[in-house]
Amino acid sequence: MTRAAGRHFLQIPGPTNVPDRVLRAIDFPTMDHRSPAFASLGKEVLEGMKRVFKTASPVVIYPASGTGAWEAALVNTLSPGDRVLMYETGHFATLWQKMAKRLGLEPEFIAGDWRSGADPQAIEAHLREDSQHLIKAVCVVHNETATGAVSRIADVRRAIDVARHPALYLVDTISSLASIDYRHDEWGVDVTVGGSQKGLMLPPGLSFNALSAKALAAAKVAKLPRSFWDWSDMLASNKDGYFPYTPATNLLYGLRESLKMLLEEEGLENVFARHQRHAEATRRAVRAWGLEVLAKNPAEYSASLTAVLMPAGHDADRVRKIILENFDMSLGTGLGKLASKVFRIGHLGDFNDLTLIGTLAGCEMGLQLAGVPTKMEGVQAAMTYLAECHANPARAAA
Ligand SMILES: *Cc1c(COP(=O)(O)O)cnc(C)c1O
Repeated sequence: MTRAAGRHFLQIPGPTNVPDRVLRAIDFPTMDHRSPAFASLGKEVLEGMKRVFKTASPVVIYPASGTGAWEAALVNTLSPGDRVLMYETGHFATLWQKMAKRLGLEPEFIAGDWRSGADPQAIEAHLREDSQHLIKAVCVVHNETATGAVSRIADVRRAIDVARHPALYLVDTISSLASIDYRHDEWGVDVTVGGSQKGLMLPPGLSFNALSAKALAAAKVAKLPRSFWDWSDMLASNKDGYFPYTPATNLLYGLRESLKMLLEEEGLENVFARHQRHAEATRRAVRAWGLEVLAKNPAEYSASLTAVLMPAGHDADRVRKIILENFDMSLGTGLGKLASKVFRIGHLGDFNDLTLIGTLAGCEMGLQLAGVPTKMEGVQAAMTYLAECHANPARAAA
């Protein structure tokens, strides 16, 4: 292997680049997780995560990837044979639906086009037909990482209310949390699922459930078998800052640092504005290349990633390979039925204007090298927009 000079560009939509500060915070001796010093760390990160989810209800933290927190959301609230209404936004929604089936639930999957968010009207219509209230939960992926389309979570809440349906509302924010505005309490969500390795700028290995009073009440009667994921054990220990089993202590050191950066130093609203600005600059670059953004509806554009559609006859994975080999940059592959049709640019986490310009330059050169008919005008379009944003900050918000 020859040495690759400079930093690898990790521009997949998670795991994201971990700031050096967070890496240093992790690099400390592991402490006794039953000690008083641990309790103050535990309390601090549990409180900080409530602010990220925008909730006054408890948040639990698992030493697991996001998939674990998906499972926790289902097994704590539901019983064997329960119907759950899920929406096919893309690959991740499909995986969550498969998990629900494996766990003995009966998902009703509303078909989607893999270019749009969940349609609140379709959800409302489906719930209205369920006059006996057999559907026990509605599950939606906030930011579908396979497509770069965002679902309007508050509008889905209204649809559930308008249908006067008592189902729980479960939302996956694994690739939107701390990148795209999200409000657990205000939007009336019962369980929100999060992960560490995307907007929170941490390595993989932590995942989260934000709860509601209604979710906690459902957990009292839910009959799916659960042990590792059981909220009641977690909450009993968390009260004093502890965990029922060994937590991922060093990742919690990292979480304390990233919470400081997000909540105290930059501020969540500024973090969201930064992601929006980079997403808009990316879309301008894609159009200037002469390519198409996969997400169809501008109201649903993702601020954390952009999926780029390839022209017919050009393989997105070949472009990704050329970019990796020539410019040491990783981009997201097309998942599920989008395999080889799209590549995905992750612009979330610890990311600034020049990281974006470097990322787009790698894409632009790679597209040329791969012989994809594109104009080399994308980086210029992004630079023009970013410079305008700095000259006129009001414009960045528009
Ligand atoms: C990354 C991701 C997951 C899967 O999380 P893992 O940490 O890989 O288990 C689930 N849902 C969404 C929306 C994601 O982006």
